[in-house]
Amino acid sequence: APLITNESTTVHVLYPESNKVEILDDGRSIRDVIDSKIRECSSVGDPELFYVANLDSILERYLQWVTNLPRVKPFYAVKCNNTASAIRMLRALGTGFDCASKAEIQLALSLGATPDQIIYAHTTKPQSHIRYACTRGVDMMTFDSEDELLKISLCHAEAKLVIRIAVDDSKSLVRLSSKFGASLASAGRLLERAKELGLQVIGVSFHVGSGCTGAEAFKQAIADARRVFDIASSLGFQLRLLDIGGGFSEIGDFQQKFEKFSKVINASLDKLFPPDSGVEIIAEPGRYFVESAFTLAVNVTAKRTVVDDEDSSSDRTIMYYINDGVYGSLSCVIFDPAHCQLEPYLHRAVGSAEPRYQSVIWGPTCDCMDKVMERCWMPELHVGDFLLFDNMGAYSVSLFSNFNSFEKAHIFPVVAAKTWRALNLAHSFGNTC
Ligand code: PLP
Repeated sequence: APLITNESTTVHVLYPESNKVEILDDGRSIRDVIDSKIRECSSVGDPELFYVANLDSILERYLQWVTNLPRVKPFYAVKCNNTASAIRMLRALGTGFDCASKAEIQLALSLGATPDQIIYAHTTKPQSHIRYACTRGVDMMTFDSEDELLKISLCHAEAKLVIRIAVDDSKSLVRLSSKFGASLASAGRLLERAKELGLQVIGVSFHVGSGCTGAEAFKQAIADARRVFDIASSLGFQLRLLDIGGGFSEIGDFQQKFEKFSKVINASLDKLFPPDSGVEIIAEPGRYFVESAFTLAVNVTAKRTVVDDEDSSSDRTIMYYINDGVYGSLSCVIFDPAHCQLEPYLHRAVGSAEPRYQSVIWGPTCDCMDKVMERCWMPELHVGDFLLFDNMGAYSVSLFSNFNSFEKAHIFPVVAAKTWRALNLAHSFGNTC
């Protein structure tokens, strides 16, 4: 994997990524790029797997964000996808970054983020990571307990603290408040403790959970945050930052929801944190920015036809084995209920009259948990055929495990020439193209 070495400690970019951003300047589309990569791969006889990362998709999401949530500055959650080109693109667009560890802070800094554009948004941090943030001037960080306050007072006494509160996340597919967030009842006591320790608290944060299905969750959470602002004010604090977390998506059912959510959020903000309140509003979207930017191309490495001996009336099932699976970039099958159902499709054209067979798709490892698709109906595939998975940008590359030591997919970033010029990306991407 490529290394980033302009930091005091070396950061490993977890996925092998092409140093060169491919610029689409001759009418070529993303599909053309995928086709040509598949041709290249197939010509070597033992095809690899890869992602194409469409940086224009990140730009589209960004434009949609600023149109719908003009008061909310996004701090992209690096944990969602730590690919350098995605981070560089967001950097060029001017977002901040939500980092959850020392290595994520290193990565964001090494790719051009400045310390004031980073929030260390993890409420249970190792002391060494807090010290690292301190040495690099990353001051903004979250907390939700007295123990965390004590650690911060020892390791970064000048930190600018954001109290994370637990909110109603019952409408979300991934419920984070079961693990993080102070109760409203404990907020006053924590703020007083921060004061005793001489710490500076600047704001309130929450996360309604990933894959949030109801806009009301944001309305209620913003009202809860307002209560904490009022408690803080009665204790002599002047809070100036509200962080409304992540939980946004645009795929499937969520497509209409982003606009609907935005309307509810804007109305709540205007009522409880009007522009003249001077409160800065930020968010920590992860999935929203990258989910649709990445297409994964994998291929069939083996197949096996099975017939249930005990039930001769049942059809045969064709088992396919592909070169990525739940221990690689398809872990969403197990870990990410907020990811819409996987919908792989064959790269080569298939006639509508071609028969469909009951099929199962397995990942490459020797574990039977490594099942990508339970019984589905597909045309017959052959070894070497490529399958494409769209919308694979969120919680895929960053969750890769090395189980069975299979290859990681290579990432090829692509951008339209007009975007490259308009955003002066040559500057942001330096000598990488
Ligand atoms: N912020 C924090 C603290 C998180 O834990 C997460 C996800 O786990 C995010 C932001 C990003 O959430 P999402 O990808 O749903 O926007």
